[in-house]
Amino acid sequence: MKIKNRLTYLFAVIVGALLLVFSVSIYFFYAQYRERDFTQRLKVRALTTAQIIVEVEDVDPGLIKLLNAKDKSVLYHEHVVIFLNRKEIFNTGVEKLMISKPVLDKIEKRNEYRFEQNEKEVIGITYSDHNGKYIIIVSGYDKYGFDKLQNLELILLIGWFIFILIVIGLGRFFADRVLSPISEVVSKVDNITASNLSARVQIGESVEQDELHQLAETFNRMLDRIQYAFESQKSFVSNASHELRTPLTSLEGQLEVGLISDRSIDEYKQILSSSLEDLLRLNGLLNGLLDLAQTDTATLDINFGPVRIDELVLTVIDECQRKFPHITISFEYENMPEEEEKLVIQANEQWLKTAVLNVIDNACKYSDNTKVQVLINVTDVWIVIKVIDFGIGIPEKEITKILEPFYRADNTKSIAGHGIGLSLSNKIFKIHKGNIQLFSNLGFGTRVFMALPVAK
Ligand code: ADP
Repeated sequence: MKIKNRLTYLFAVIVGALLLVFSVSIYFFYAQYRERDFTQRLKVRALTTAQIIVEVEDVDPGLIKLLNAKDKSVLYHEHVVIFLNRKEIFNTGVEKLMISKPVLDKIEKRNEYRFEQNEKEVIGITYSDHNGKYIIIVSGYDKYGFDKLQNLELILLIGWFIFILIVIGLGRFFADRVLSPISEVVSKVDNITASNLSARVQIGESVEQDELHQLAETFNRMLDRIQYAFESQKSFVSNASHELRTPLTSLEGQLEVGLISDRSIDEYKQILSSSLEDLLRLNGLLNGLLDLAQTDTATLDINFGPVRIDELVLTVIDECQRKFPHITISFEYENMPEEEEKLVIQANEQWLKTAVLNVIDNACKYSDNTKVQVLINVTDVWIVIKVIDFGIGIPEKEITKILEPFYRADNTKSIAGHGIGLSLSNKIFKIHKGNIQLFSNLGFGTRVFMALPVAK
């Protein structure tokens, strides 16, 4: 069911129920009022008859009948029955009113007693004088009152129906008006496709920041993120293809050249070693891409276990030292924590090793200097691994893009690389709820701070 219809029906049900309670209460209170009013009239008739009995010494039933006939206030289907000392002395009306003994007892006991008999309301009162004890009973049908009550019932019923129809109509109208901006948003969203991701939902200029305004803003922000992810993905694929194509083309060229004519063994060796170099480059690139893909799909705690950070860093330094024997890689604790357990965190050891290795490897690779410093600093919250080199540095305007996949700074074109190491390290640190920060001075060196949260 559409929200519009749901709102309308809900509104109608609530208003209908309230109105029904209101109408039933009116009917109920009016019915009570009618009963009280008619009882009062019956009582007045009974008292009037009693007065005649007092004033006229010798009560003549014929006289009462005559007076009743002249009286304009006679009730509809009225009966008057008078008993003197339990003996019926007067009974008038369309049909005879039968009064049982227990009823007479009750009237005598209570002096005034109201009851209903054959749809008629009856009141009995007592009166005593020197002749004895009179019981005067008057009954009648409140035709006027019941007609009014029936009329009221009809008015309330028809009124209720008309009101409900009006409420449904108004509810639909207002729900339509309130929800029309949502329909607008929906139709605009419908027009946004993969090739048209830059389109945005128009946000009104109104000062009032209503929910629809917020919805449109949230939706636009989501589109920003999707567009960014979509474009990164596109550029990732094109960059990856480009990076793969370069060594493959070079490999293809070298093998073709080798096959064109017969060559000396040395020349073949030369071609083979250069091809092997390209293959190794290709292999390195593919491994990097595979790692990137894996970190993308990894769940957070995959293969996590306790890892002691300083030991991991020392292993990595060892590996780099073997690769760059001419560079001195120093290691130092900037501050040694009192409890050594602070150096142990839950991590995926293999990934973390790859991440730290990429950074120390870069420090060595981009240093024309012979020195790289690795420091460990432990605070209450973070373990920070600092890698400091005194190499070529990163141009200031490029430092913000350096963590993007395939991005390589302008000053490193002559040094081999694919530009995926740092972005992979960044992802790995994010998976470990950590982060990487780079500070660099072009021509003076680079500092990379890798922070990991201390285990709780
Ligand atoms: P690669 O080193 O394979 O090019 P990375 O992702 O590891 O890829 O690094 C991306 C870019 O960041 C490098 O091409 C380089 O321009 C810059 N960079 C990273 N580390 C350093 C460093 N220590 N000194 C200078 N430039 C660096």
